Amino acid sequence: MDETSKYAKAVKIISDSFEPYFWSRKLTPFEVLVSTILSQKTERRGTKKAFDKLKEKIGLTPEKIAGAPISDIIDAIKPAGLYRSKAPKIKEVAQVVLDKYGGDLSVILDMPTPEARKKLTGMPGVGPKTADILLSFAGKRPVFPVDVHIERVGKRLGLVHPEAKYEEIRAAYEEVIPPEDRMRAHMALIEFGREICTARNPKHGICPVSEYCDYYQSLLAENSSA
Ligand code: SF4
Repeated sequence: MDETSKYAKAVKIISDSFEPYFWSRKLTPFEVLVSTILSQKTERRGTKKAFDKLKEKIGLTPEKIAGAPISDIIDAIKPAGLYRSKAPKIKEVAQVVLDKYGGDLSVILDMPTPEARKKLTGMPGVGPKTADILLSFAGKRPVFPVDVHIERVGKRLGLVHPEAKYEEIRAAYEEVIPPEDRMRAHMALIEFGREICTARNPKHGICPVSEYCDYYQSLLAENSSA
């Protein structure tokens, strides 16, 4: 089996074995943006709590967020980590969406993907991952957002080298995942990284793709030669 087929097979197995968690499926583009900023370095439960509180206390439209006092935003998003730095980013990005796009992110999401990505990453608090999440979930583009779990899995499998950066990792995954499967694969890989290929003590023994994993195979080789 060549390398591309090997990784395509591993990702397909993961995609078929892990049920994606899709709480953001029904969100508006602006809500997807805010939830993604809230999720940075924050567990899922804290993100959801902060998101719900922000929606309940202030409302999740660019108008309401831009018009709210920063102290109210901080107070609402406390369940998320780094709330003091996230609050001004959320307020600022709401103002930009209002001023530049009339409060409607679909103006950007209708642009060709490279242009839309450029516009999004030019906004406060929006990095490549957040932009790709918006393009995928709100824009229905076949891009593959890379989060911390997906990066770790890709590096351990050997899909990318250990120093690979965001764009290289995204391109490598997109090479082995058909466009129509990318959203599901993205969500399934996150679950896989949370449950099996965890940062500490990965569960190699029950991993469905251990035979395709460079990291695990090198551990086995080291042990057999010791
Ligand atoms: S074998 Fe271990 S390191 Fe490799 S993908 Fe599975 S859990 Fe992760």
